[in-house]
Amino acid sequence: MERRWGAGGFSRRLWGLLLWNALLQDVAQAAPAGASPKASPSVEQFWHISDLHMDPSYHITGNHTQVCASSKGVNASNPGIFGDFMCDSPYRLILSALQYMRDSGQRASFMIWTGDSPPHVPVKELSTKLVIDIIGNLTATIRSFFPDLQVFPALGNHDYWPQDQMPESSSEVYNAVADFWKPWLSDEAVSTLRKGGFYTQVFQPNTTQPLRIVSLNTVLYYSPNNMTWNMTDPANQFEWLESVLEAAKQNKEKVYIVGHVPVGYLPFVRNITAIRKHYNEQLIEIFRRHSSVIAGQFYGHTHRDSIMVLLDKNGKPVNSLFVVPAVTPVKARLQADSNNPGMRLYQYDPLSYSLLDLWQFYLNLTEANMKNESVWKLEYVMSKAYGIQDLKPESLYEIANQFRVPQSNLFRRYYNYYFVSYDDPSLFCDERCKTNQICAIQYLDLSSYTDCVGREGK
Ligand SMILES: [Zn+2]
Ligand SMILES: [Zn+2]
Repeated sequence: MERRWGAGGFSRRLWGLLLWNALLQDVAQAAPAGASPKASPSVEQFWHISDLHMDPSYHITGNHTQVCASSKGVNASNPGIFGDFMCDSPYRLILSALQYMRDSGQRASFMIWTGDSPPHVPVKELSTKLVIDIIGNLTATIRSFFPDLQVFPALGNHDYWPQDQMPESSSEVYNAVADFWKPWLSDEAVSTLRKGGFYTQVFQPNTTQPLRIVSLNTVLYYSPNNMTWNMTDPANQFEWLESVLEAAKQNKEKVYIVGHVPVGYLPFVRNITAIRKHYNEQLIEIFRRHSSVIAGQFYGHTHRDSIMVLLDKNGKPVNSLFVVPAVTPVKARLQADSNNPGMRLYQYDPLSYSLLDLWQFYLNLTEANMKNESVWKLEYVMSKAYGIQDLKPESLYEIANQFRVPQSNLFRRYYNYYFVSYDDPSLFCDERCKTNQICAIQYLDLSSYTDCVGREGK
């Protein structure tokens, strides 16, 4: 069947969406439901959203192959005003997430936003201009909801055209996002962003022990990126990262690492890293060497909710890593599973920046479409869900140990949250699947991961 979304049609729809104010008024004024975190004065919080993947072509129509360009001609499953599991996010879904965050009344010190704004559509249906327009639109949208909140973004593999092919030198996209994100960043951060798509910036520099955000461009290491093939240190980011972490140690700062494509092994397959294996080894090496200054690591990209723990060479847990689930509910054509839209709030100790807890929120997409109302809810509080005191590396490592128990209810819970409570009884995790999940949580480098899957024997 002839495809209806040429770049022209796509572009027209996008510009229509730039008039977001009209739509904003249209979004139901749903008050945040359920419990909400009460931060005591010694606890501070920040938001994390990722993988918004806005599809400007999304619209309800009787012909389900035409609901969204991101279904790539496949029938949408049950399209409603907040989206469909075969489609990327309608703008209204993104607005509902931001509106819930704003109206929740939560005090957040800042927000991290780990990339992937454009939709999953064939390369020829996008262009550098469209990719830039979509990132610009979502930047403006976030700023309209949170005019006074500092946001620390990272670039995703879809934030480029053609997708994944980010270069190691300056580009139109790096330049554009440097301009878009200027209000949130220092001049120095804007300047490295322009050159290589990464930056570092101190949050609240005048405190006794400042927090340093390091936003990495891990797309340079992403396996499908042909632009960096055979390079030992694309854009000299490894060298830069080492010097930033070294200086942070000298200055007694703590660091949060923010990036799109995560380090470590993918939890749903065996033996596959998201970034190239040799880059993964190098990154893990750097993170181990500097683990004492790193207080947390935050990623997106897989669209699923997962944790990882970095161990030092002696097997001691030294860093906690988090992968936030996507706002988009999209799944690939042959995939059985998907995720409900999600985003989260972390709680941290403002003196040590150690992570205390996280509150995961989600939208039951089927229910929202049925009611024509976006009822975002608390999905779980990590400390309560797993019976842990805090999100320290030792605590997360211990959770994964408990998952090993046969028929572990705790693991069942983790696996349900992995899909953001996407309710499908066929989503059963057999022994091999469980081994993949547990080894990916606890072992991030080649040799320890290989040992783990060998040891488990399934
Ligand atoms: Zn994504
Ligand atoms: Zn991605």
